[in-house]
Amino acid sequence: MPVRRRLHIEGIVQGVGFRPFVYQLATSLQLAGWVLNSSEGVSIEVEGAEAQVEDFTRRVVSDAPPLASISRIEADDIPVLQEEAFVIRKSLSTDTATARLPADVAVCGDCAREMKDPSDRRYGYPFINCTNCGPRFTIIEGIPYDRPFTTMRRFPMCPKCLEEYENPLNRRFHAQPNACPVCGPSIRLEEEPSLPPEAALRRVGDLLQAGRIVAIKGLGGFHLACDARNAEAVRSLRDRKGRGAKPFALMCADTEEMRRICLPTPEEESALLSPERPIVLLEAIPGTDIAPEVAPGHRYLGVMLPYTPLHRLLMRTAPQTLVLTSGNLSEEPICHKNEEARSRLSAIADAFLTHNRDIAVPCDDSVTRFVQGKPAVIRRARGFVPRPIPLGFEAVPILACGGQQKNAFCVAQGGDAMLSQHIGDLDNLETLAYFERAVEHFKRLFRVTPEIAACDMHPDYLSSRYARSLEGVSLIEVQHHHAHIAAAMVEHRLEGEVIGIAFDGAGYGPDGALWGGEVLICDYLDYRRFACLEPVPLPGGEAAIRRPARMALSYLIHAFGEEGKAIAKDSLPALSDEEIAVVEMQIARCLNSPETSGMGRLFDGVAALAGLCQVATYEGQGAVELESLADGNADGAYPYELLVRSGLCQVHVVPMIRSVIRDRRQGRPTGEIATRFHQTVEEIVVHLCRLARKESGLNRVALSGGVFQNRWLLDRLLGRLPEEGFDVFSPRQVPANDGGIALGQAAIAGRRRSAGCV
Ligand SMILES: [Zn+2]
Ligand SMILES: [Zn+2]
Ligand SMILES: [Zn+2]
Repeated sequence: MPVRRRLHIEGIVQGVGFRPFVYQLATSLQLAGWVLNSSEGVSIEVEGAEAQVEDFTRRVVSDAPPLASISRIEADDIPVLQEEAFVIRKSLSTDTATARLPADVAVCGDCAREMKDPSDRRYGYPFINCTNCGPRFTIIEGIPYDRPFTTMRRFPMCPKCLEEYENPLNRRFHAQPNACPVCGPSIRLEEEPSLPPEAALRRVGDLLQAGRIVAIKGLGGFHLACDARNAEAVRSLRDRKGRGAKPFALMCADTEEMRRICLPTPEEESALLSPERPIVLLEAIPGTDIAPEVAPGHRYLGVMLPYTPLHRLLMRTAPQTLVLTSGNLSEEPICHKNEEARSRLSAIADAFLTHNRDIAVPCDDSVTRFVQGKPAVIRRARGFVPRPIPLGFEAVPILACGGQQKNAFCVAQGGDAMLSQHIGDLDNLETLAYFERAVEHFKRLFRVTPEIAACDMHPDYLSSRYARSLEGVSLIEVQHHHAHIAAAMVEHRLEGEVIGIAFDGAGYGPDGALWGGEVLICDYLDYRRFACLEPVPLPGGEAAIRRPARMALSYLIHAFGEEGKAIAKDSLPALSDEEIAVVEMQIARCLNSPETSGMGRLFDGVAALAGLCQVATYEGQGAVELESLADGNADGAYPYELLVRSGLCQVHVVPMIRSVIRDRRQGRPTGEIATRFHQTVEEIVVHLCRLARKESGLNRVALSGGVFQNRWLLDRLLGRLPEEGFDVFSPRQVPANDGGIALGQAAIAGRRRSAGCV
């Protein structure tokens, strides 16, 4: 007796070869019926002998393709229709969408092999792809994920490609970006448009060998490339880009080349070779021929391996390690259109290698690093976005707008949150416009009409202003550090209260001060401030963030009073007598000197006092330099005091500042000061956790905020707190920095709505 069963599958099931897999499975079991992509996932009906239908129901989950991820499956038996064949039906478009879209995938082994085979029709073709690899998120303009809704719609397939696309037994069956040299996209060297592709690639290789800077259009936007061994080329890229000292990312030709310059662990190597292919921060081998200008003052290098066929081909003739940095002027969004790149990058690049496959949405490279053998993402973009993050509850449609720096926003619906790709710092009009376009794109792709707009409490964040300007939604403002901790809680599915350690540069506190060295006792609905760093003035506001020497002077005056100025003259070379007088006056008269309890600012101040970064060219430079020098060659911690004022525990660092100055006067090595400072912060965290546990009875600690990008500190605490009996959680899938707060905002807003608080 035949039976017929309808299956509905949700999760990442589009663009990952799911329908061909279903087709092959069904036909191998002699089942009739159909499969189709809908905007809600994949729907299947199968009909045949009961044992085979049962087998199918089991194997559709257990044997699913490697890139698929099933979050939900529904199965119902329905009346038999007496069908004879199994077919793949045309996609349906419906209004309620829970379909999950795939992220971009690095070129697979099969395609890489074909590309190298002179007898293959795609030999040397820079856009080769298949069901298991190729562009996805960056070419999708609408849903369902089908070729007419991607930027590939302008390339009608040639008969050979079409045959592959339509043949269920071919590995390109329904591969939406399928293409070949006859019908697909092609590359072009703008300076010599008549060069055939192969010659154009060779020419780019030659230009790079000769020390030139080339703008190269990739998967999610343009990169600027130059030879990483050529100090002059790297310097001129820095100058032309206006980049300061912020490290550049590298692309190595292969793992062998990468091992020549870095010391990757096996786990790091497998991340470098994963389908996501992020940039991984690796311990650099000192004294290699990589130009020191690549990452001044850093002990790590950000390295990736070629992830598109184009990069693989380029690496055949280019220098074996390239600087490959986002194609933009500092702080602007990455360029992704040919015209735009040629005008905006014309003063930086000597040549442009473009192609004619449009990028629907720009997407930077992701950056990750390993702590205690496991990855933790720092910048979440290509390869990871738009993969959903389970929220742990059913949410009404929410748009969470994120922060101001390292912005990423988030849309949530049902049980999932979709965190956007890294947008950047919302300090200029270009980035703000990119943010607004990306929000609209996400709303369209996921068919989310927000009922709630969540944002940071800060009065001036442009993301918050945007949220406040939206009509027809309820606005929920979320405290910055509460959002940091909630993001970590979502990822680790923590319910109930936790001890939240939120350390960052600055976030708006409800008292109007700049918070950032916070211990919160919180759940999703609310938080209580248990402890913080003692607030000190931030003289000149932004100016003190750009000039850590000013922050150091603020600490000196706080610790030594009048004598602090004299110490500053000896120890802070960046400060002129005039600037010292200005800072003193600003502090004394409370002029543009908001109070800050930011742990990031303490790192800045101590870095400057230790003789390191006096003037920062990127956020967190002082902390990075301090961490690089923390060599472990020092015992113990500096002294500090804990004082309780009106129920709030404050960490006073005056004894520590005095000790740092004493160490410097005694000529102690900078590495020793850096180590002792890190150990002090470690002691402070452990101490505060113990106190918080004593008072609250809580045992779970969540560590979040930009300061926890510091590998030394995080590594120590992840080891130390469990020894003290705590369960410790830190963000892994979302950035600990402000790139993760939109997820926390969405969770807090959604929970408050569910609980009827708003
Ligand atoms: Zn492939
Ligand atoms: Zn073709
Ligand atoms: Zn923050």
